[in-house]
Amino acid sequence: MHMFCKNCGIEVQNGWVKCPKCGTAISDEVREQLKVTQKPEMYRTTWKDRLKFQLKVRLCIGAVLLVMMVIVIIIMAITEMF
Ligand SMILES: [Zn+2]
Repeated sequence: MHMFCKNCGIEVQNGWVKCPKCGTAISDEVREQLKVTQKPEMYRTTWKDRLKFQLKVRLCIGAVLLVMMVIVIIIMAITEMF
């Protein structure tokens, strides 16, 4: 992320309060924008999505195992009948 001085246009590094060339104060507006863009919102959403996905996968595996068990029980019941 790069910031530039409003007055002289030179590149200003993140965390600097004043421009080293002309002394113009770097506006809070620019810093607020930086904070917003640096928020790790993406990581949080992907982490939640990953957890949801894992839950879905486990539910699917559980459902498949349950169906397989039911089928095995039905087959055992049928073969015992004959
Ligand atoms: Zn400047």
